[in-house]
Amino acid sequence: MKLIHNPAEWNPLWLNHLRTNQQIGLVPTMGALHDGHLDLVKKSREECQVTIVSIFVNPTQFNNPEDFNKYPKTIEQDLAKLALAGVDYVFLPSEQVMYPAATGLKFDFGALEHVLEGKFRPGHFNGVGIVVSKLFHMIRPHVAFFGQKDLQQVAIIKRLVNDLSFEVNLSIVPTRRELDGLAMSSRNLRLNPEEREKALLLIRSLEKARAELTKGTDWKIIKEQIEADFNAEPLARLEYFDLVHPDTFDTYSIFDPAKKSSICVAAFMGDIRLIDNLPIIS
Ligand code: AMP
Repeated sequence: MKLIHNPAEWNPLWLNHLRTNQQIGLVPTMGALHDGHLDLVKKSREECQVTIVSIFVNPTQFNNPEDFNKYPKTIEQDLAKLALAGVDYVFLPSEQVMYPAATGLKFDFGALEHVLEGKFRPGHFNGVGIVVSKLFHMIRPHVAFFGQKDLQQVAIIKRLVNDLSFEVNLSIVPTRRELDGLAMSSRNLRLNPEEREKALLLIRSLEKARAELTKGTDWKIIKEQIEADFNAEPLARLEYFDLVHPDTFDTYSIFDPAKKSSICVAAFMGDIRLIDNLPIIS
């Protein structure tokens, strides 16, 4: 496994792989790697001859400076996991490499950035759009791998690739969970034992809502029940619990089994913000 720090190191390697007709898979991450990230790596190794994982905690996608400063950093363990997983390259750019100058460009993702994550994390998707565009330009992968855990991010990146004609295929990987159902997330490392236990409220509420939808209960009533469940938990603060179209993120007020839908949730457990989602009709 070779470490790469800038495009000058990568370009001749990229050219060699291209000449020998090898498909290059990119897995963008912010480090603090867990088995969910490794599922993306595994998929890349299945689909591509070459896998490059990027680790960069991107400052422009954090709307909360404390969340950025406290983002877990476990680089030694990350590199050991990636070597074991059979990764070919790790791209470890400095902030100077990614942002030699401040970016003035602003993306407008339209309706997508005014709901759910877009509404509660102003500027977040602009930062994601900037960093993913930079990574696509620098690495020039054939395929890029993203997790369904960040469902709205997937919709944003599909829009980016489509509207800016990036020649990259996207491969989306299902959410990896802990044995008790909690979606794996680098931020889980920051939960204390009590918060970790209470964090199960996210997946339990998603599953409860799905079961109620199957029974025919009105979405409005389900949503009220779930909001009451969160209100009853002093450590929790719900930001949203919405039934949406997974591509457009139009929010539904009535469940229609003929239309694609997912339920998305975001909530704080103590100071830690967690998100999760469950597909209902794919
Ligand atoms: P992050 O390091 O949190 O920016 O995540 C890097 C990539 O891993 C993103 O495409 C995430 O959607 C994906 N990812 C994060 N957590 C999971 C998970 N539990 N299961 C599958 N993919 C995940």
